[in-house]
Amino acid sequence: MAAEEGKTAPPRKRRSRRRQTSHLKKVPETLALREELKAHCKKIAEGIDSATPLSKDQMETVCRKLLSDLNHPESYLGWTMVILSSEFWHDQVAAVPPERRLFLLPHCLKHSEGCPADYDQFGLDCKTCGACSIADFRTTADEMGYKVLVAEGSPIVLKIIVSGYVDAIVGVACLNVLEKAIDKILLAGIPCMAVPLLSSDCRNTSVDEHWVEQMVATPFKESKKQTRTYVHLLRGAAHIFEPDRLDSLVVRKRSQERISERNGTGTTGLDPIAATEAIAVDFLGRGGKHSRPFITLATYDALNGNQGTLDAEVVKSFPDSVMRAALSIETFHKASLVHDDIEDNDQFRYGLEALHQTHGIPTAINVGDYLIGMGYRLVSRDAREIGHDTASDILDGLADAHLRLSEGQGAELFWRDNGDKRLKPLDALKVYAMKTAPAFEAALLTGARLAGPNTEYTKPIKDFARNLGVGFQILNDLKDWDGDQDNKMSAGGDLLCGRPTLLWALALEALDEEDQAELFSLVENEEMHPHHRLMKARQLYLKADVFETAQRLVDKYQEKAEIIADDIEPDSLRRLLYYLVDTVLSRSESTYTPTIEFAEPTMKDALPIVSS
Ligand code: SF4
Repeated sequence: MAAEEGKTAPPRKRRSRRRQTSHLKKVPETLALREELKAHCKKIAEGIDSATPLSKDQMETVCRKLLSDLNHPESYLGWTMVILSSEFWHDQVAAVPPERRLFLLPHCLKHSEGCPADYDQFGLDCKTCGACSIADFRTTADEMGYKVLVAEGSPIVLKIIVSGYVDAIVGVACLNVLEKAIDKILLAGIPCMAVPLLSSDCRNTSVDEHWVEQMVATPFKESKKQTRTYVHLLRGAAHIFEPDRLDSLVVRKRSQERISERNGTGTTGLDPIAATEAIAVDFLGRGGKHSRPFITLATYDALNGNQGTLDAEVVKSFPDSVMRAALSIETFHKASLVHDDIEDNDQFRYGLEALHQTHGIPTAINVGDYLIGMGYRLVSRDAREIGHDTASDILDGLADAHLRLSEGQGAELFWRDNGDKRLKPLDALKVYAMKTAPAFEAALLTGARLAGPNTEYTKPIKDFARNLGVGFQILNDLKDWDGDQDNKMSAGGDLLCGRPTLLWALALEALDEEDQAELFSLVENEEMHPHHRLMKARQLYLKADVFETAQRLVDKYQEKAEIIADDIEPDSLRRLLYYLVDTVLSRSESTYTPTIEFAEPTMKDALPIVSS
């Protein structure tokens, strides 16, 4: 049964992601019960084809059946899925030498009253006082050569993995964290094993310690078996932005000097003729998750043999022309960030002062323009190598995306700066389709066109990107209210700065005239304290049920994207589209606190695509 399931493609009919899962996260009460379930999971995992990672749906199906066969409650499902997943990845983790593994521990294992450890940028700096099991686990892991981190959350872990520092993860975490964080790591196909904490209390927690010791002690064992992973492609995309590689792909004409290496002198003394190019290349290399180039490379690979998910060397051997096209997607995005920071008067970008802050608005506008030119040039210069038709098609797609995104951005600015704050949900959705979807579309279509004519994918990819992009943008609206449940001042920024959001449009549609007037007054009344404006606006949004309606709309757009993906062949491209849906539209179970792997699109995303 299990072997069959492991060999199948992801289920063609996928379920909505937004489900309450708290009732599915019970830890089996006794060690004997946990041992029994673990033994069953091990057996099942041995029968599963390890060539392709299990999707969440597949894993859930297998675990539900196991629990039902054993007459155990559904509430063990989350725990059982973690154990099955760990058993599935066991051999792949074992195939990574310990010094290339990351051991991740949660803070909450520490002795909360007397722990003398401090926190630094790498998490908790355990002083090995011996009061909790962290010290013992650390000692064993250190001796074996592991990198050890006492921290939580997928962003830092993914960063460490993508940077090439480690190749596998073993960890301890509560089921809540495992659901949100480790899940994304597994989706990317990163070898990972975990032992769930016995509770999710966030304080003085405990764990089956001998399981952790066993997991850490997993001996290195070479394996010929390989499981497909997006790590090579994620690393390939990140590698493009390393200074030497970036210089080799961009081919600078004016100066080889790097601003970042000018010992804090910035552009002082730089040849004016070379300054624009130098600032642009420097900004291109700064920050970001490089999600856009990843999508292009992954689409190219999916339609070009799909070997990049198995072998890092395949990605390293991608032609420079393919890398340059992937780079061009990010170049447009970076250009949009420069311009948007000016439009929104944002002060910082990637933890540094925004370009217009350091160089002034005229220079920043000019650098943004230069980056747009560079984006087109990165593709056009390879016309001979990739073929004139290919280059022409890619450039046409990029230009089309550029125009629509600028129109979407323009519509948003026009609405923001216009006195008339009426907005219909349909118009808000139209703006979202123009502003966010073309970026996904450009990255996907560029990758597909690099792999061949592939005209049959044009329409499905456009439709998929539209649904994914709109769903993503609605999630971003919801995320803007994240934290407001505790009346935090950080929530509701969209409303205060007058962004035309779907939530606003839904509220206007549902409220009566009196409530509408009050909502209008909240945006205009700058004398009222922002805290009170947001409190009142939230009440009105709740009255209009906009959060729930918006969640349902995300479900709808997700379902539409999945239906399009269901019909895509080959399997490699379908899996990539599912991966994008799962990561871009990832949500927690709370009413409106979505967690998104990709950074949110704001007005910063006026050009090709996903994260900043
Ligand atoms: S062993 Fe480390 S983490 Fe645990 S209480 Fe002592 S210093 Fe804190």
